[in-house]
Amino acid sequence: MKSHVVVVGAGVIGLTTALQLSMDGVPADRITIVAKDLSEATVSSVSAALWETPPYEMEADTNAIEWCAATLHKLTELQRDHPEAGIHTVPSFTVSEKKLKPNVDAKNTCTSYQAWESPSKLNATLRRAGVPELSDVFRYFESYDAPIASMNVYMPWLNAQLAERGIKVIQKEIPDLYTLAKSNVIVVNCTGLASHKIDPKVYPCKGQIVVINAPWVRAAILDMDSGAYMIPRTNGTLICGGTSENNKWDFNVEDHVTEQIMKKCSNIVPSITKAPILAVKVGHRPKRHGGVRLEGENSPHGGVIVHNYGHGGSGLCCSWGTAVAASKLVLAHMRQPSKL
Ligand SMILES: Cc1cc2nc3c(=O)[nH]c(=O)nc-3n(C[C@H](O)[C@H](O)[C@H](O)COP(=O)(O)OP(=O)(O)OC[C@H]3O[C@@H](n4cnc5c(N)ncnc54)[C@H](O)[C@@H]3O)c2cc1C
Repeated sequence: MKSHVVVVGAGVIGLTTALQLSMDGVPADRITIVAKDLSEATVSSVSAALWETPPYEMEADTNAIEWCAATLHKLTELQRDHPEAGIHTVPSFTVSEKKLKPNVDAKNTCTSYQAWESPSKLNATLRRAGVPELSDVFRYFESYDAPIASMNVYMPWLNAQLAERGIKVIQKEIPDLYTLAKSNVIVVNCTGLASHKIDPKVYPCKGQIVVINAPWVRAAILDMDSGAYMIPRTNGTLICGGTSENNKWDFNVEDHVTEQIMKKCSNIVPSITKAPILAVKVGHRPKRHGGVRLEGENSPHGGVIVHNYGHGGSGLCCSWGTAVAASKLVLAHMRQPSKL
């Protein structure tokens, strides 16, 4: 193992991939993370970070369900073994006034999956989750237990794991990944949306969220009809969303959007109407026509780039699954440099 691995990007994809490389046996002194923005300034830190399947705002990929399943397994393990990592599992309800198309992927992946066509049977579960007053317009429900990563805790925790293993993070912009990938340097491209500079298939999907204080809500709720959602974090705050605007590059926080989000969410769970707003944030989901790019590429400068970007609205959901796959590509190249 003579090569040095440079993971470019300190979002959830870069950090998870670097950690997986270390867990797969690449020595810490042969891994460096280089990032223009440190974790707290990335899209990943804005993420509501609910695990769901099938992936949301990410183009179909034959491997996506497998990546989601692998991540579910890992997040459940982390919640059990590292309660300090900021992961909790809550019932996640999809609600609708109209009949829902059964979520076959969730049914196949989650033993807790259930579907109902009457709210009465749900009442006890909703009461336990702190939402006894769900709007009575909804007639159709699906639920399964879903992990959520509170990114304000989980991202620092990932960084701490890397530091404990001796993996350095350097803050620096890499102007050209291909020049960096020279002989004996394997570059792992986890630059998210910035990959649009080398790949015209990559585009943004702007999302605005509102963070409120509502510690009594202990369930995730996704309204299929309006697109509104509520996702609780471990510190008692609730992420209310949201918007999904393809090809919008601006970072403007729009007041009328905040109002719309709060109106829709309050209609679903009236008890949040007076909850204080703590923050309003905007981020760009890194979407890609054709789904995640997860493959190796030879650089004209003699090295190799392993790409791992384009996770759209499902970076957390797929993070461990794609990290395992990216790490395998890196290891294969380290063992047999000619073979990607
Ligand atoms: C409002 C909103 C809600 C979301 N909710 C969910 C959810 O519930 N569940 C879910 O799974 N996902 C969700 N997502 C999606 C998720 O946030 C993304 O898929 C994920 O953050 C992408 O991670 P990433 O590491 O690829 O990119 P990023 O977090 O953007 O990180 C990219 C990194 O690359 C670095 N970089 C870029 N270019 C260079 C360069 N040239 N040199 C050096 N460094 C560079 C950046 O500085 C940064 O460190 C949501 C997103 C938004 C916006």
